[in-house]
Amino acid sequence: MRLTTIKLAGFKSFVDPTTLHLPTNMTGVVGPNGCGKSNIIDAIRWVMGESAASRLRGDSLTDVIFSGSSARKPVGQATVELIFDNSDGTIQGEYATYAEISVKRLVSRDGQSSYYLNGARCRRRDITDLFLGTGLGPRSYSIIEQGMISQIIEAAPEELRMHLEEAAGISKYKERRKETESR
Ligand code: ATP
Ligand code: MG
Repeated sequence: MRLTTIKLAGFKSFVDPTTLHLPTNMTGVVGPNGCGKSNIIDAIRWVMGESAASRLRGDSLTDVIFSGSSARKPVGQATVELIFDNSDGTIQGEYATYAEISVKRLVSRDGQSSYYLNGARCRRRDITDLFLGTGLGPRSYSIIEQGMISQIIEAAPEELRMHLEEAAGISKYKERRKETESR
């Protein structure tokens, strides 16, 4: 599975609709300080369901919406869409047969978030379920930020175990068991 395209509009500094193509397995993003490189990572975490504003470097969830600049007025909503190439079948279940999977999130000023999977409205839960066990996800190890290496090295055993279980692909089954047991 590979992330091939990121589409942003109204998200942080990406006020105008912007499409980023990631044509190969390695893509570098370069630019001066404050140009929006980290905002792209925030966007990826955000679509996959991150719900803690602090993890997106903001105070409230609507802080991801473009808040205006000296030249531009604020906008009313933010959207980000990720397109994954799933031709290797990493994503299993209902979406296994789709060669391309699109995941989208929209938030408006009233704080309402909506999620879409291949264009159809879905729950946040459907998105997190989709990525569970793939190593992707809002807090998974596939996004390594500054400071995270030492965080993993210094992690408590329980936290380390969580990462190992995700890598081994068993977190999905544990989550389902927990769900069944709580019914
Ligand atoms: P560095 O090289 O210093 O890490 P960077 O390229 O990672 O920089 P970012 O942190 O991605 O930069 O971008 C910061 C910029 O995004 C700032 O100019 C900030 O004003 C802008 N920004 C963040 N949130 C919003 C928002 N909601 N509305 C408008 N602009 C925003
Ligand atoms: Mg940065």
